[in-house]
Amino acid sequence: MHRLVILGAGFGGMTVFHHVVKWSERYDVQVTVIDERESFLLKPSLPEVAVGEKVVGDVTFAVRPVIEKYGRFIRSRVQQIDPIGKCVILEDETSISYDTLVVALGAKKDFSSVDGFKDYGHSMCTDVLAAQLSEAVSNFSQGDIVIGSAPMVQGTRTPDAPFLMAACEGPIGEMAFMIDAHLRNRGKRSQTRIRCFSPAEIFFEDVGDQVHEAFGALAQKQDIEVETNKIIDHLEEDRVVFTDGTDMRSALTIIIPTYRGPDVLTLSGLGDEAGFAPTNEQYQHLDYPDIYAIGDGAARTVPKLGHLAVEQGAMVASILRRNITGEGDIRPYEPEIFCIMNMGNHKATLIRSNTLYGGTMDIAYYGAVSSFMKRAFDDYVLHFKGKMPPDISQRLLNVYLDRLQ
Ligand SMILES: Cc1cc2nc3c(=O)[nH]c(=O)nc-3n(C[C@H](O)[C@H](O)[C@H](O)COP(=O)(O)OP(=O)(O)OC[C@H]3O[C@@H](n4cnc5c(N)ncnc54)[C@H](O)[C@@H]3O)c2cc1C
Repeated sequence: MHRLVILGAGFGGMTVFHHVVKWSERYDVQVTVIDERESFLLKPSLPEVAVGEKVVGDVTFAVRPVIEKYGRFIRSRVQQIDPIGKCVILEDETSISYDTLVVALGAKKDFSSVDGFKDYGHSMCTDVLAAQLSEAVSNFSQGDIVIGSAPMVQGTRTPDAPFLMAACEGPIGEMAFMIDAHLRNRGKRSQTRIRCFSPAEIFFEDVGDQVHEAFGALAQKQDIEVETNKIIDHLEEDRVVFTDGTDMRSALTIIIPTYRGPDVLTLSGLGDEAGFAPTNEQYQHLDYPDIYAIGDGAARTVPKLGHLAVEQGAMVASILRRNITGEGDIRPYEPEIFCIMNMGNHKATLIRSNTLYGGTMDIAYYGAVSSFMKRAFDDYVLHFKGKMPPDISQRLLNVYLDRLQ
C-alpha cells in the first residue's frame, strides 16, 4: 500500500485529493488529508463577507464527509514534519507515516509584522477578521478608508520565480470597489475618501499595461485613489504611517499583512528564509523528492493566488499518478493570473494575464457577465465540494477571452 498524505484541505489540497481519488483505490493508495479546520473556506468570497453580502457559513463546506467517502480525514494541527523519518507529527503527538507527502498548508498571514494592527487594523484575510470587518463597514459613517498591503517576503532558493512586492493585490481592489458600491447604495459615498496603497512601484504589478489601464479608468470613475511605493510602518488610531515619513488619515484601515511560509515548514527545516517551501518546477521539494509543496506555501507560487494552487495541484496529481501507477501523462503547468474581482452591484472585472511569466496575454473584462461568472464559479466549488469546474469550461472561456484581446 502506498501512503499519500495531503496537508491542508484548501484549494491546493482539495484539488490533489479530487484528482487522486479517481484512481487511488485501484492502485491500493491510502489517501489521508490533515487539516486543523473541519471546513473548506472559499477565501475569494471573504470580501463579500466583509461588506455584509454573505456570512461565513455561505462560503464554507464540511470537508470530513467529502474526504471520508474515499480516504481518511484527520482534524488536527500539524506540528512538525520529519522528512528523514517520513512522518508528520500532530498536535497530540500522533505520528502519521507517509510514502509521499503533499504540503498545501497555505501561507501564514503575519499580522504581527504590522505594528498597531491588533488595535487599529482590519482585514478580510481570515473568516474571523472578515466577519469583524463587516461590522465595522456596516457601522461606518464617514472619514477616510485606507486599504493596502504590507510587503511580501521571498527567499532566495528559487531565484527564477518572479519577485513581487505584494503577495496578491486583487482583494485590495475588490474591497475598495465593494465598499464604494456599499456606501453609494447607502447614500454615504460623498462623505468618504477611499484610498488604496501598494508597496510596489505599480499597483497590480503582476499584470500588464492593458489591465493597469482598465483598472485605472474604473478606479478614477469611482473616485478611488491609488498610491504606490508606500511601505507600511505602523498603524495609529486615525492614520496609517509609512516608512517614508508620510501618512494617510484613516477612519477604517484594511490591511493584507506580510505573507510568510507556514511555521511548521520552518520548524521542520523545510522552508527557505521566508518560510516558503523551495521546489523545482514540478513543485517537488528541492531537498526531499518525496515531498511536494503547492499553493501559497510554496516559494514558487507568485503571486499567492488560488488559481495557481489549483493548477499546481492538478499537475502534481498527474505526477503522482505517473509515479505510483506508471499511467497517464504529466499535465503541463502554464501559470497565468486568472481571477475575477467583484466590484459590487453585480459588476466585476475578470483578469487574465501572463505577462509576469513572459507571455503577452493581458485581458481585463469588466461587466455583469464577469460578475455572473464569479457567482457561477463560487457556487460550483461549494456545491461540488472543492472540485473545480471541468477543464472544458475553462478552455471555452479562454477561447472567448482570446477573441476579446
Ligand atoms: C481575501 C482574499 C481574496 C482572495 N481572492 C482570490 C481570487 O479572487 N482568486 C484567486 O485565485 N485567489 C484568491 N485569493 C487567494 C487564494 O485564496 C489562495 O491563493 C488559496 O486559498 C491558496 O490555496 P492553498 O491550498 O495554498 O491554501 P489555503 O486555501 O489557505 O488552505 C490551507 C489549508 O491548510 C490548513 N492549515 C494551515 N496550517 C495548518 C497546520 N499547521 N495544520 C493543519 N492544517 C493547517 C488551513 O486550515 C487551510 O484549510 C484570495 C485570498 C484572500 C485572503
